[in-house]
Amino acid sequence: MPAELPDLSTLSYLERYGYLPPGAAGPDLDVDTVAHALARFQDRMNVPVTGRVDADTRSELEAARCGMPDLVNGLALKALCPWDGPELRYAFGAPCTNYEGAFEAVERAASTWAGVLPFVLRRVESTQEPDVMVEWRPAQDPDHSMVGTVVAHADFPGPCWTITEAPPKPLHFDDDESIWADGAIRGAFDVETVALHEFGHLLGLAHTQVPGAVMYPRVRHHYVLRELQPDDLDQVCSLYPASVPT
Ligand SMILES: [Zn+2]
Ligand SMILES: [Zn+2]
Repeated sequence: MPAELPDLSTLSYLERYGYLPPGAAGPDLDVDTVAHALARFQDRMNVPVTGRVDADTRSELEAARCGMPDLVNGLALKALCPWDGPELRYAFGAPCTNYEGAFEAVERAASTWAGVLPFVLRRVESTQEPDVMVEWRPAQDPDHSMVGTVVAHADFPGPCWTITEAPPKPLHFDDDESIWADGAIRGAFDVETVALHEFGHLLGLAHTQVPGAVMYPRVRHHYVLRELQPDDLDQVCSLYPASVPT
C-alpha cells in the first residue's frame, strides 16, 4: 500500500479512464482507494499488480493511448450499446496536416468493420448530416482534450454516449502532438490502425485488456494492426448477432 497519494496527474488519469469515480481525484482520497484503483489499472495493462506507482506503472501512465475510458461506471465491460443502424454515415472534416493519405486510411478501416457487420459504413459529404465526423483536431480539442498521451478519441453510440448525444459524433485524431503515417513507421502512428480502433467505439465496443486486440487502449508508434482479432469479433457478435464471423 502506498504511504502517500500519487501526484495529482496520476489521480486525474485514474479518474479520466474510469478507475476512480467522477470527481474523486483530489487530496482527500484515501490511500487504500488509490491503491485499489492502481491495482485495477495494472491488471488491465498487464503489468505486475503492486497498487503503487512503480517503474512499470509509470511507463504505462505515460504511454500513448486512446482517450476513451477503460472502465465504464467502474465496470470492465467490453461491449456497451450497439449502433442503431441501418447504416453508419461518416464524413471528413479537417484533414491531417502531416499525412495526405489519412482519409483513405480511415476509409479502409471503415471497410474492415463493414466486412463483419450487418450494415454498411458509408462515406458521405459533410453537408449531408453525417452520423460521424472524422477529423484531425488541435490537441486542445474542445470536446475532449487530447493534450499529452491521447492520440485519438471517438464516442459510444446511443444511450452510452459520453461526449455528445447529438450527431455528428466525433472520430478525432490529434493533429498537434502526433505524427501520422501509412504503415509501421518509426515515430509515427498508423492511421488505419488507430481508425480501426476508434470506429470500434462508435460501434459500441469498449476497451479490452487482451493485448494484441484492436480494442486494446494502448497505441504504439511503428505498429500496424489492421485486422479484427478474435477478442474483437467476440464483442461484435455479442452486440450484433447478425454479424458475419470471420
Ligand atoms: Zn479506445
Ligand atoms: Zn474531439
